[in-house]
Amino acid sequence: MAEHESLEFGKADFVLLDNVSLEEFMANLKLRFEKGRIYTYIGEVVVSVNPYRAMNIYGRDTIEQYKGRELYERPPHLFAIADAAYKAMKRRNKDTCIVISGESGAGKTEASKYIMQYIAAITNPGQRAEVERVKNMLLKSNCVLEAFGNAKTNRNDNSSRFGKYMDINFDFKGDPIGGHINNYLLEKSRVIFQQEGERSFHSFYQVCSSINDTADFKAVADAMKVIGFTAEEIQTVYKILASILHLGNLRFGVDGDTTLIENPKVVELIGGLLATKEESVEKALLYRTVATGRDVIDKQHTAQEAGYGRDALAKAMYERMFCWIVGRINDVIEVKNYDAKVHGKNTVIGVLDIYGFEIFQNNSFEQFCINYCNEKLQQLFIQLVLTQEQEEYQREGIPWKHIDYFNNQVIVDLVELQHKGIFSVLDEACMNVGKVTDEVFLQGLNSKLAKHAHYTSRKVHWEPLTIWVNTLLPLPLPRHAPPVHVLSVYLPPSPLSPPPRRSSNPVLKVMWPEGKLSITEVTKRPLTAATLFKNSMIALVENLACKEPYYVRCIKPNEVKSPLLFEQERCRHQVEYLGLLENVRVRRAGFANRQEYPRFLQRYKMISEFTWPNHDLRSDREAVKMLLQSCGLEHDVAYGKTKVFIRTPRTLFSLEEQRAEM
Ligand code: ATP
Ligand code: MG
Repeated sequence: MAEHESLEFGKADFVLLDNVSLEEFMANLKLRFEKGRIYTYIGEVVVSVNPYRAMNIYGRDTIEQYKGRELYERPPHLFAIADAAYKAMKRRNKDTCIVISGESGAGKTEASKYIMQYIAAITNPGQRAEVERVKNMLLKSNCVLEAFGNAKTNRNDNSSRFGKYMDINFDFKGDPIGGHINNYLLEKSRVIFQQEGERSFHSFYQVCSSINDTADFKAVADAMKVIGFTAEEIQTVYKILASILHLGNLRFGVDGDTTLIENPKVVELIGGLLATKEESVEKALLYRTVATGRDVIDKQHTAQEAGYGRDALAKAMYERMFCWIVGRINDVIEVKNYDAKVHGKNTVIGVLDIYGFEIFQNNSFEQFCINYCNEKLQQLFIQLVLTQEQEEYQREGIPWKHIDYFNNQVIVDLVELQHKGIFSVLDEACMNVGKVTDEVFLQGLNSKLAKHAHYTSRKVHWEPLTIWVNTLLPLPLPRHAPPVHVLSVYLPPSPLSPPPRRSSNPVLKVMWPEGKLSITEVTKRPLTAATLFKNSMIALVENLACKEPYYVRCIKPNEVKSPLLFEQERCRHQVEYLGLLENVRVRRAGFANRQEYPRFLQRYKMISEFTWPNHDLRSDREAVKMLLQSCGLEHDVAYGKTKVFIRTPRTLFSLEEQRAEM
């Protein structure tokens, strides 16, 4: 409980508040932010407020202070959580994960990097060269992925535009031996369109060598080299970026019945960059492949369709490249040929850093997915922290007064339920593009979801092939005015067969392995982007749920990136929708630690004459009671059916001290 910190800095753990009320919570959060204490615990959860200034709390000396310590021994810090996850992994052979959440700009990505740096710093005391190599590559991968997957938005100058889950694998010594990155839906629409004040992905500016981005360009190229990208691969990446930029300049016109490209010079440039014949590029831009009966034919686009096709191609090229980069990083960091019989269990710490909640002036399908992803993670938090905790007390027969909270499942269902959710309705519409109009889709939503308590369709903005359905999605806020989440859905035009498939560049060939489309491929219905994303989120949550979770809850103090401003309303809103107060209540009424009786005895039996070396009591439960009584600690514990529950970490600390003195 970090009581060593002076009260001048507020309470280091919200559990220690005199009264658990929103007012006291906010007052403590504000006080700590103003005193430069950006981290505060709720038990084992870290609440972090973005300081928007460089903090001198991540250096080697700080790392040393946290290494191997217990959570409550030092002031709250990300390092303490990282260490707790590491200890659980090392001592108890547990797979753990660190889930970092909060809205866009709240500090998730920075937190994930500090956590990785900490883990890198405390491992491999033997300085094994292979482990050092792995660590270096894991850290360098951040730089590369940020260049290609992050962009300046109006919320955040370095906003993650993809979701990232990274597993770090450890050997029996507790040293990193590899990793794996899962990436989730890149916001590829940014390639062709940015709102006012925003930018496309950093990589485009780095390749154009604008003044600020030149140094980054070098850093990224160096990082790619360290990871093992070949010169040819790096060059191809730049060629793709350049081709995408050129694609943006293409203009289409008509001459009678024929659609044509008004500036064919651009086609020549693209063909050169992609090592593809000009005619192939031109054809891919002006025609699409359709199935008629048993044949496949090329059908000419209208100028407008060609415009959509060009944009679809630019997005597809960027997305392919991004996924290929992730795949190449995985190639080199993945653990291969690990023999558990020889090396012991291979354990994992997963770090999840996704894109945070966001609402823009115009919201696309991607914002819908991003916000759904956040709803889903909030649900996991509720399930693990609020529901399971309370269920365990009930199961163990510990007297317990249920603490109320909003169960987010209803929101998740609204989006993902089979046949009834928004994704289902969208999928149906996607299956019938061309036949189903925007209106029909909207009617589908309205008829299926009108009765849902959290669905409101309120604004429709018509554009050809574009559907904007803005939906109100209130967050879990019983008793308070719900915030508004504007979600939009966008149907992209059908994809074309892109020119990189016909390239003679070997790297491009790997990125686009498909050959000429056969009739079955033309007529086959691919899974929709919505379904793919939904499935990936369900798999992600399943993966997280089977690990021991640690949470970092990030709060963004203001809209203007100021280190001084704590906007009360903004922060209160986040505290509410993150369910932090409920978290404090459950935690406070609950117990910091629980252990099964035999395990508890195994660790502490030497403390008491009644239990050392063995006890002759009726049960382990009785023996634990005797032990705790004899050390005068029983006021702080409760005895469940199979486990002893310890209310405050202080008690655990005292047990540990007594054990050490033996
Ligand atoms: P998004 O969802 O948009 O990706 P995010 O939660 O990942 O947002 P970050 O990119 O981590 O947000 O943080 C935004 C900015 O805030 C950083 O670029 C940095 O300037 C500042 N910041 C965040 N955390 C810290 C910190 N611990 N110390 C100093 N500055 C920070
Ligand atoms: Mg981020």
